Amino acid sequence: MTIGVWILGDQLWSEQAALQRRAIAKSNTPVILIESRQWVQVRSYHRQKLVLVWSAMRHFAEELRTDGWSVTYNIAEEFETPLNAWIQAEGITELFVMQPNDRPFVALLRSLELPCQLTLVPNNRFLWTADEFGQWAKGRKNLLMEYFYREGRQRFQVLMEGKQPIAGRWNFDKENRKPPKGKLDTPEPLWFEPDAITQEVMAWVQQGNFTSYGALEPFRWGVTRSHALQVLDTFIQTRLPTFGPYQDAMVTHEDTMWHALLSPYLNLGLLQPMEVIAAAEQAYYDHNLSLNSIEGFIRQVLGWREFMHGLYHHVDEDYPQRNFFDHQQPLPDFFWDAKQADMNCLRQVLTQVEHMAYAHHIQRLMILANFSLIAGLNPQEVENWFHAAFIDAYDWVMQTNVIGMGLFADGGILASKPYAASANYVNRMSDYCKSCRYKPTQRTGEAACPFNFFYWDFLDRHRSVLEQQGRTSFILKNLDKMPPEELAEIRQRAADWHNQRSPR
Ligand code: FAD
Ligand code: SF4
Repeated sequence: MTIGVWILGDQLWSEQAALQRRAIAKSNTPVILIESRQWVQVRSYHRQKLVLVWSAMRHFAEELRTDGWSVTYNIAEEFETPLNAWIQAEGITELFVMQPNDRPFVALLRSLELPCQLTLVPNNRFLWTADEFGQWAKGRKNLLMEYFYREGRQRFQVLMEGKQPIAGRWNFDKENRKPPKGKLDTPEPLWFEPDAITQEVMAWVQQGNFTSYGALEPFRWGVTRSHALQVLDTFIQTRLPTFGPYQDAMVTHEDTMWHALLSPYLNLGLLQPMEVIAAAEQAYYDHNLSLNSIEGFIRQVLGWREFMHGLYHHVDEDYPQRNFFDHQQPLPDFFWDAKQADMNCLRQVLTQVEHMAYAHHIQRLMILANFSLIAGLNPQEVENWFHAAFIDAYDWVMQTNVIGMGLFADGGILASKPYAASANYVNRMSDYCKSCRYKPTQRTGEAACPFNFFYWDFLDRHRSVLEQQGRTSFILKNLDKMPPEELAEIRQRAADWHNQRSPR
């Protein structure tokens, strides 16, 4: 009996479960990695995402070879042909694959016709397995991240003193919402020059006939575990100590603020969640850092990231198709071409995404997703764009973040109310409005900010549904106080905005 291991592009960890099965030994276990052109034609991808994944795969294959594994690396049209040829050439009788995180890839695996047995090995890339999350969720009326996170703190003994949270508090969110006032001294992120392997992939992506989006250069992401560890170390030393206060702030030309830039590496397998959490916790004990920053960061990885992954596997398979508000407006062209956007906040963030395939959480949630929600854009078109645009996008993290958190298209499985906001929020938490042709204080008139008329139009259109959500009722009272002629103009402006883009 010969066992072979197929390593997928987001499983780049030497201790991943399929490589660690007791039955296998390095010297006589063939390993394969495959780049498939067809797989990346299913949708568009940011050019830097293609470079990141393929360069990281090629580097990982080299590292496995150096470590004594017998590795085949294949660049092919699709997966089945090279897989079958390799299985036959190596005389493989059983193929191990670590359970993919993404459901579409599980479906692809099921559709393959292989000349040997396929064994899916349980995935060990998350702290909570899908079954463990299911146990936690069982019987709960509301799946609140906060309670899941607290359970995680207790289970893994992170920032705990026995059964109590350190300093007696679970949550320091309130201290982490400072608006950006005055000159902010933001730390430099750590970037890398492309090496020969990365340059080769860049040339390949440049020439390849892929449906791609965004700038290929400058490509500055890390592509190895060593790079990822350096990014983690730089974050812990220079960004984590002051991560908290401006976590929600947005500033022109400050693309990363104090954010960690770790999601591309965590999602590929180059970093593991517990080593990231442990490094942050250790820095707290070693350097007596402020707890709002440490807790604020650990909440993201131990809380949100694990929650999103658990929930993705817990919800029904039709979750990606959900459209709770029945929003059907098409995605405006400026999402694919930032210079067409005349709203400064959207133009800034979309330009940044084109250049680096990254925006931080509040830019994603309160600019891109918020606009999509209140303007009534079709959730599946929006999800498709997010998936294409971001360096860290994978199905497991995209569906819950976009369909659930960003657009409330799941009807409230994830969030207790829609994250809908007017220009008031953008003006308070960013400097974007200062250089915009629209006025954040106006909801009617020629200079009315679209975030304002869309916000009130959204509340008005969905009033009956929102009335049932206790947490939005006080805002609906403000809608009730609005003079009818003002509401009529708001409705008209919202309709005109769409009609000017897609005349029917
Ligand atoms: P930081 O803000 O420094 O946070 C640290 C880490 O916490 C991140 O690296 C990430 O691993 C984790 N994290 C924080 N929030 C989340 C979350 N909601 N879901 C999952 N992990 C989280 N994250 C992705 O990894 N891929 C995506 O494609 C993605 N799309 C998003 C789309 C929308 C509409 C929204 C609202 C959020 C999305 N997120 C996504 C979550 C979050 O915005 C990113 O993980 C984060 O911005 C990555 O940058 P960072 O590493 O600098 O994060
Ligand atoms: Fe965005 Fe409106 Fe502010 Fe302009 S005024 S930056 S469109 S929120």
